[in-house]
Amino acid sequence: MSRHVFITGGGTGIGLATARALAPTGAKFTLVGRDGGRVADAAREFETAHGVSCNVADEASVHAAFTAARERFGPIDILINNAGITPSAPLHAMELSLWNEVLAINLTGAFLCSRAALADMYAAKWGRIINVASIAGLKGGPYISAYCASKHGMIGMTRALAHEAAKRGVTVNAICPGYVETEIITRAAETISSKTKLSEDEARAMLYAGNPQGRFITADEVASAVAWLCSDGAAATNGAAIPMSGGEI
Ligand code: NAP
Repeated sequence: MSRHVFITGGGTGIGLATARALAPTGAKFTLVGRDGGRVADAAREFETAHGVSCNVADEASVHAAFTAARERFGPIDILINNAGITPSAPLHAMELSLWNEVLAINLTGAFLCSRAALADMYAAKWGRIINVASIAGLKGGPYISAYCASKHGMIGMTRALAHEAAKRGVTVNAICPGYVETEIITRAAETISSKTKLSEDEARAMLYAGNPQGRFITADEVASAVAWLCSDGAAATNGAAIPMSGGEI
């Protein structure tokens, strides 16, 4: 069956890898991100896809993106809440504006998109919402209190909505990766290297040191788990927040 999949942050990293993992199912894709040109470019790779500029933290922008998505490919069957930012700062020195921005994009964005998608899913009596959280949603870490709070919140929302939606054919899950080899890692290694005496290679090794497998997770690994959670066979997994961290948690 050709499902309509709405992926936030679909033009890069884990979001784009997820579209690639679901493409063999014949899915239709709406890929959204703030950079409309980038999601439009990414969409060209797929047979049935379009890119829509959208800021998930902005209610009107989310409404407009879902309207455009439905006009193009009909009701939404699957929502991948993947858009996220990962700035770091010690809590005692964190600007309120930074805290608010992280919560608005990582958590409120997932709320706004879930709310926008659920009417279609309830009408169809079938749906999948996959929230790309993080192991930072399951444990703490220094300098990422806003990010940790947003991802813990995302997992809480996942568990609550899984109960609400359970009898309506809709499942809701969170996937919780450790460090994944994407642009986020490149940026994090550059930041650590600029603030310490570590080279970028040393900073990268420090980042994956927590993974008992001694490596970064790949975006393709996360994408294949997300694709499985979208399948009919994953229904009994409703509500689970699944760590993907090589055994770190
Ligand atoms: P990425 O390539 O930087 O992806 C982030 C995506 O989110 C981008 O496509 C970005 O597109 C989009 N985005 C950011 N703010 C947005 C907004 N306000 N509205 C709409 N889209 C927005 O990095 P990634 O690693 O694939 O990250 C994807 C998700 O995985 C994030 O939620 C991240 O927290 C999570 N995660 C990543 C790791 C890791 O180590 N890489 C580990 C655990 C969890 P625009 O800039 O065009 O908006």
